[in-house]
Amino acid sequence: MSGEAEAATVVVIEDDHHISDLVALYLRRDGFRVLQADDAERGLEVVGRERPVLVVLDIGLPGRLDGLQACRELRLQGDVPVVMLTARDDELDRVLGLELGADDYVTKPFSPRELVARVHAILRRSAAASDGKAEATVYRLGDVEVDTGRREVRQGGPEHTDVVAVTTREFDLLVYLAANRGLALSRQQLLDGVWGAGWYGDARTVDVHVRQLRKKLGDGLRLTTVWGVGYRLD
Ligand code: CA
Repeated sequence: MSGEAEAATVVVIEDDHHISDLVALYLRRDGFRVLQADDAERGLEVVGRERPVLVVLDIGLPGRLDGLQACRELRLQGDVPVVMLTARDDELDRVLGLELGADDYVTKPFSPRELVARVHAILRRSAAASDGKAEATVYRLGDVEVDTGRREVRQGGPEHTDVVAVTTREFDLLVYLAANRGLALSRQQLLDGVWGAGWYGDARTVDVHVRQLRKKLGDGLRLTTVWGVGYRLD
């Protein structure tokens, strides 16, 4: 994907115009095409129509849907990366606790430069993922198939197969676990391997994503908690 080079679209959903304009300014300066929406419903409509490469989504939004509900809605529609803007630590707790599968979080007040750096990091990851097509692998893990070429997780037997909707990060985590099958991996290893060395979130993040994968894939996924260490995929 060369999206970053050809004015890739980012949708910013934020009702605080000052913040929204500032984020848009920095993203535009970096060559993105930016569309702004000040409530979730309008934002979702723009995302559906414009197919952005990324969504910046505020949690506290007016109207029928708040940012958390909007994030859940985006997850049902596809796997566009989402960076959430949170106003307070307790909002971040809610984001993590609700297992929405946002790809990154920034707590206000944040520097727009930092946000733009996060956006680039996420897009580099998804670009690297699709550039690797020549070496695409299909991991078969019980009744779960992880297809790195199509970036698709499938579940079921030869009779009937379902595509399971997972987020960018859940997918990357699954691939990392699959590539290291049979090995007990610490949360730190998983953070470094999947989120990258520049990530300064905490181990909770790994737990949240693992819980989400377990919920989506059920017992078909043989993902074991290794007490005192982390996780192992068999
Ligand atoms: Ca707000």
